[in-house]
Amino acid sequence: MIQSGQHKPQTRSTGAARPPAIEVEDLTVSYGPVPALLDVSLTIEEGKLVGIIGPNGSGKSTLMKAMLGFIKPDVGTVKIFGSDVAGIKGRVAYVPQRGAVDWDFPITVREVAAMGRYSYRRWWQDLKQQDYALAEEALVKVRMSDFADRQIGQLSGGQQQRVFMARALTQNADILLLDEPFAGVDAATERAILDVLEDLKNDGKTVVVVHHDLATAAEYFDLLILLKQRLFGFGPPKMILNPKLLGDVYEGTLRVFAELERQGAEG
Ligand code: ADP
Ligand code: MG
Repeated sequence: MIQSGQHKPQTRSTGAARPPAIEVEDLTVSYGPVPALLDVSLTIEEGKLVGIIGPNGSGKSTLMKAMLGFIKPDVGTVKIFGSDVAGIKGRVAYVPQRGAVDWDFPITVREVAAMGRYSYRRWWQDLKQQDYALAEEALVKVRMSDFADRQIGQLSGGQQQRVFMARALTQNADILLLDEPFAGVDAATERAILDVLEDLKNDGKTVVVVHHDLATAAEYFDLLILLKQRLFGFGPPKMILNPKLLGDVYEGTLRVFAELERQGAEG
C-alpha cells in the first residue's frame, strides 16, 4: 500500500491547531459475508480536492456513505473535524450517484436547490426569502438559473446533476462529497461542475469525489484514493497512477496502462 496523505493536523497562522477534515480509521463495512471495505485508514486535510478511484464494486460509494455516517461500520471510526460523524449536522453536503433519486413527484429546480437550506431550519419552519436568494445564487454558479421554474424530472441527467450540485452549495457545508458527478454528463455539465469544484477549493472547502475516469484524474484532483475493498494507495496522482499499482487493482485492464505509457512517452 502506498500512502503519503497522512500528516499531523497543520497549525494555521492563527496558532490554533485544526483537526483534519476527515479521519477514517480501521474502517471495515459489510453488507453480507464479504466486507465491502476492509481495514481502511486515511486522513484528509482541510482544503483538499480528493478523487476516489477503483473498479466497479470496489467500495467507493460505501466509503462515501461511511464518511456521511449513513452506514454503521463493523469496525472502525470516521471523524469529521475531530468529531464522531454521528454527531455532525449540516457540515457535510452530499451529491448522490445519478439514478439514486427517482423524481416522479413534482418539484421545481428552485425548490431542489433551496433544499440545501433545510439543515439551517427546523422541520416546522418554512424556508425564508434569504434561503431562496442563496438557492438562486447557487443556480447561477452551476448555470441552471434559466431552468429555475422547471420540474426537475423534466431535465436531462447532466442538468439534474448540476441542480444537485446547487443544492449542495446552498448548504454551505465545509465538506462536499460527490458520487460520480461526471458519469455520463455532457461537456457543458463537466465544465460547470469543474468550475464549481475549483471555486469550492479556493474557498477552503474540502471536496471528495468518486471518479471513474483515470484519464482526467490527475488533472482534476490534488490527491487520489485508490480503492479495491482495501486501500491500495492514497497520495498525489503522480504517485497513484503508476502502472504497477493500477495493475494490482484493475486486473486485465491493459488499455489503461497502454494509455499511461503513451502519455509518459509524450510527456
Ligand atoms: P462502488 O461504488 O465502488 O462501485 P459500492 O460501494 O457501491 O462500490 O459497493 C461495494 C460492494 O458492496 C459491492 O460488492 C456491492 O455489490 C456491495 N453493496 C453495495 N451496496 C450494497 C447494499 N446496499 N446491499 C448489499 N451489498 C451492497
Ligand atoms: Mg458507486
